[in-house]
Amino acid sequence: MISIDFDYYKPENIQEACDLMARFKTEKTNAVYYAGGTEVVSFIRKGTLKAKAVIDLKGIEEMAEIHANEDHVFVGANVSLNQAADFKPLEPMKAVLNKIGDRTIRNTLTIGGNICGKLPYREAILPLLASDANVIIAGEEGLSEKKLSEVFDMRLKLSGSEFVYGFSIPRNDQIKMYSKRIQSDIPIDYPILHLVGRWAEDRLFIGLSGFAGVPRYQWIEKDEFDQWQTPIDKLIGKFASMAKEDDRAGAEYRVHLLEYLLEDMLGGMENDQL
Ligand SMILES: Cc1cc2nc3c(=O)[nH]c(=O)nc-3n(C[C@H](O)[C@H](O)[C@H](O)COP(=O)(O)OP(=O)(O)OC[C@H]3O[C@@H](n4cnc5c(N)ncnc54)[C@H](O)[C@@H]3O)c2cc1C
Repeated sequence: MISIDFDYYKPENIQEACDLMARFKTEKTNAVYYAGGTEVVSFIRKGTLKAKAVIDLKGIEEMAEIHANEDHVFVGANVSLNQAADFKPLEPMKAVLNKIGDRTIRNTLTIGGNICGKLPYREAILPLLASDANVIIAGEEGLSEKKLSEVFDMRLKLSGSEFVYGFSIPRNDQIKMYSKRIQSDIPIDYPILHLVGRWAEDRLFIGLSGFAGVPRYQWIEKDEFDQWQTPIDKLIGKFASMAKEDDRAGAEYRVHLLEYLLEDMLGGMENDQL
């Protein structure tokens, strides 16, 4: 049950959505965008989100589209995690997306909601960053496309009435992505550590969810990597200080798991067995 009253809006285009949000900001009314709604509803129920207006982005039909041409895949922000994982041209991301929640909940969780959510995991950001994706942002001036890595710094930087319209991902069916996730014995649980890795032509991507308070990632140039005598130690050195303590695991344990997964990943990459 939801015990507070709020106004519900379902705009049909980006201008309408931005105008609504801009108006609420001017009026200092607490308004929130809404996609799958799982996080918004749960935060309202818990009382941690005191929204007076909810703007449902699902009325914008193009945001539910997913399609590909020879060069790029477009994924609308309202596409569910299942739709994205099952879309053949996104095969390299499938293993990562399929580890989020379970099949039933992934029908509701949207890719935009996962990335813009307030929870610390946001696992879908990792394969997008590893794929060099662009994010398409809707704002009062219309749509603008930016490199995701330029607007994601621990969280996606959106300003004013902006929201995520979708993602444009360079199409590369040959990408091999490493994805291993360690979690508790509970069947649906957040990761203690999810490591996503990818060798691009001249650089290595390492992305982590569950390890720190927010998703963290780095690209390491191949020239730098090749000079390292002990690559695992060097990689751990780049992330160790970010390890968090929580009721699932201590920081030291997380670093230990990171070492284990890095060994597994680099071993697999050497043998081309990702
Ligand atoms: C049972 C369950 C299991 C889960 N397991 C995992 C897991 O294993 N790993 C993981 O990473 N996450 C997990 N989650 C978290 C989930 O992915 C996030 O809570 C996500 O935000 C939910 O997506 P949604 O579409 O329901 O978002 P909503 O609740 O609609 O929105 C979430 C937030 O994003 C904002 N938002 C939504 N769409 C946009 C947009 N297009 N532009 C800008 N802002 C937007 C909203 O304003 C809100 O702040 C789980 C959630 C549930 C309910």
